[in-house]
Amino acid sequence: MTDTIFGKITRGEIPTEFIYEDDRCVVIRDIHPQAPTHVLIIPRKPIPRLVDADDGDSALLGHLMLVAGRVAEQLGVGDGFRLVVNNGEASGQTVFHLHLHVLAGRTLVEGGLANGIG
Ligand code: 5GP
Repeated sequence: MTDTIFGKITRGEIPTEFIYEDDRCVVIRDIHPQAPTHVLIIPRKPIPRLVDADDGDSALLGHLMLVAGRVAEQLGVGDGFRLVVNNGEASGQTVFHLHLHVLAGRTLVEGGLANGIG
């Protein structure tokens, strides 16, 4: 399996502030934020794309969702945020290590983030 920048980040090989971490995932700020709050929930397990996850990853995927909600609340955006998972090049995925985008802080309806993350 090809390593990615997120593999290096989750292993601590590239110094990056973790705004949350546990034994299964880390949370970092996106280097090119698309909204005032834009963080990435990254599992330590390097699953390339969502479609590469299998039944054995069910608990991990659920955990990532729960962490997304908790971190959003910790960041003060628990009342309004969007989760985005890009899957594959056609979706705009650029880092092939599964991750959840948490976006908040500007309008999420009527344009804005309604159609994606940009
Ligand atoms: P994707 O397009 O794969 O869903 O999202 C990858 C995201 O990772 C992009 O929003 C990009 O800005 C972010 N990103 C890429 N490399 C780095 C990095 O080295 N550090 C951080 N913090 N974010 C990164």
